[in-house]
Amino acid sequence: MALRFYNTLTQQVEEFTPLHGNEVRMYTCGPTVYNYAHIGNLRTFTFEDILRRWLQARGYTMNHVMNITDVEDKIIRNSMAQGKTLEEYTAVYTKAFLDDTALLRLERPERYAKATEHIDEMVSAIETLRDRGFTYLSEGSTYYRIANFPTYGKLSHNDFSGIRAGARVDVDEYDKADARDFVLWKAKKEGEPSWDEPIGDGRPGWHIECSVMAMKYLGETLDIHAGGVDLVFPHHENEIAQSEAITGKPFARFWLHAEHLNVDMQKMSKSIGNIYTLRDIVEMGYSPEALRYLLASVPYRKKLNFTLDGLAAASTAIERLRNFKLRLETDRYPEAGEPGMAERIAKARTQFDEALDDDLNTAEALGAVFEFVRDANTVMDAGNFAAADAPAALALLARFDSVFDVLRPTVKDDSVSDADVERLIGERTQAKKSRNFARADEIRKQLMDAGIVLEDTKDGVRWKRK
Ligand code: AMP
Ligand code: ZN
Repeated sequence: MALRFYNTLTQQVEEFTPLHGNEVRMYTCGPTVYNYAHIGNLRTFTFEDILRRWLQARGYTMNHVMNITDVEDKIIRNSMAQGKTLEEYTAVYTKAFLDDTALLRLERPERYAKATEHIDEMVSAIETLRDRGFTYLSEGSTYYRIANFPTYGKLSHNDFSGIRAGARVDVDEYDKADARDFVLWKAKKEGEPSWDEPIGDGRPGWHIECSVMAMKYLGETLDIHAGGVDLVFPHHENEIAQSEAITGKPFARFWLHAEHLNVDMQKMSKSIGNIYTLRDIVEMGYSPEALRYLLASVPYRKKLNFTLDGLAAASTAIERLRNFKLRLETDRYPEAGEPGMAERIAKARTQFDEALDDDLNTAEALGAVFEFVRDANTVMDAGNFAAADAPAALALLARFDSVFDVLRPTVKDDSVSDADVERLIGERTQAKKSRNFARADEIRKQLMDAGIVLEDTKDGVRWKRK
């Protein structure tokens, strides 16, 4: 059976082939760099990594663009509160994101694109929309008139025909009940960063960046557009409305969305205090590859319930595979052994491939590998595994690892990065504010042990390396 994916747009599982020969043009919505990525965000990015690795295993080449949202409501609010420019504020979290993705072994997309580096293109896209009659002005801001795009709602499968024409929304994020004309260009507010452009002094709304950067680098029709389920509405719906109003062509052929990650059956949220970052996981003593394995092991369209037990089980599973690989590489095997092992290996490989072809059914793919490992271990224990079968078994593990990438252990680096220092200082300031002086002192000591000296000044905390 051919490679197929569930397409949110058609609500069907469809066979996938790219539009342009062997090249897959894919756009994925990247991080909003206003904070450290949590493991929920990382689940979505891990799914996208598995997706691109599997496409490559199937012989395609990738042309993948991921945006970095570095201007947006939350970023502006936080950077202003800290008296920093957008660039100073987002640099820390952009670096932290790149560090995290490297540690989680996420392949780099062919291109990262920052919103603030594409303001000119966004302005011209908004001018095109204006010239085609899709926009209107109100108090200096430009809005998209969704009533002029009759298929609005086709991705989220909502019927918006009853919406009140002319009702507007200014914030970047909102829910379904709030389907309204959304902002393309926001008029400058006092003290906020802005760009003085022919369409007014202001700054872009969140949605326009993805339409513009996707089409600039990948053309008018993408093969795949992916993200987390929370982006279906309004973000992706708005991307379609913008792009298709400009080109008159389908914006993306396949829309893939990853389900959310919950923690101990609850939504991960700041108010419950159950947000984990990759750094938290590593500080607790788990390896990055254990998290990678856990995030990848649940098929992306199923909710993933994160628990520390699950993480421990992932570590054990990886250990099992590493031991098996070591055994294959180092044990001495007889010339003749159990007949049929070559077929057994071929069967595992077919099952593995078919599972991933089936909308990336990672759980079934792992099942095929573990069943084979169990069978092979039994045959080895009985002394019946033939030397001639070892290379094929190792090749199967290599295929598994080209997608899951967990067999190589992470080498620990004890040095603390600048981003870590900034984060710990932020946490210490927070701890002091909430009068948790024990934690504040603990952080100061932790940093001191890593050779970092803190100095509290009236302008905030300064730090240097000893
Ligand atoms: P953001 O940085 O908030 O723009 O989110 C980056 C990506 O993470 C988007 O694709 C979101 O859909 C996704 N995301 C956010 N929260 C979760 C979650 N709890 N589980 C899985 N993915 C998430
Ligand atoms: Zn986007």
